[in-house]
Amino acid sequence: MLHAAVNRDNPINAGRSFHVLTKPIGPICNLDCTYCFYLEKQKLYPDERQWQMSDAVLETYIRQYIQDQPVTEINFAWQGGEPTLLGVGFFRKIAGLQQKYAGGKTISNALQTNGTLLDAEWCEFLAAHKFLIGLSIDGPRELHDKYRVDKGQKPTFDAVMRGLELLKQHKVEFNTLTVVNRANSQRPLEVYRFLKEIGSEFLQFIPLVERQASAQLQARGFDFAGPPANGQANDPPPPPTRTPATR
Ligand code: SF4
Repeated sequence: MLHAAVNRDNPINAGRSFHVLTKPIGPICNLDCTYCFYLEKQKLYPDERQWQMSDAVLETYIRQYIQDQPVTEINFAWQGGEPTLLGVGFFRKIAGLQQKYAGGKTISNALQTNGTLLDAEWCEFLAAHKFLIGLSIDGPRELHDKYRVDKGQKPTFDAVMRGLELLKQHKVEFNTLTVVNRANSQRPLEVYRFLKEIGSEFLQFIPLVERQASAQLQARGFDFAGPPANGQANDPPPPPTRTPATR
């Protein structure tokens, strides 16, 4: 994912920074959200057993990401799947590598999580290293649990709220990410008030626009279509949005 970032301190470098969303555990997640387009990407690598980014790739990535951006502030963004499955030790390693290659630059980190695996150790680390947390939550209990379920198809609201309380206790900065779907989109005020009540000061919303897989893809075991090819976003028109299965 790229976006232009302007370094106002140094016009020569303006526009030469970039932003990458890193998925160091690929599509592996402890949840099974009904609308998740990403879990099934495991099927693209049927022989893969080791999803964690290797130490060698991690170090090269961190070094290059810092050194190849001629700006003074570098932001890393970590996502999954569920990145906390990697354990806090993996992120301690990240912090160490960032320190090793910082070269005087200011480093910051953002981590997107479903929040269910956060504990005191995680939150102490996140607070100490000033991570910005993006917490995935779809609204109050009934709306959140509609699609955000675990591998046993059990609701996850309580686990997310436990994670959120820990973040607050440890004063970890967080914002919220809410998937706008056919359930919560019908009750926007309820969702908005809930997010404000739990202390979210920066509310992000992402529309659920998954597309039905073609018959060919379905035959290969996929439920979701990939993005249209370059330049063909509207030609032919995309198939209808996939209806999340009810479980
Ligand atoms: S938490 Fe995210 S990655 Fe995991 S199943 Fe839900 S939507 Fe997919």
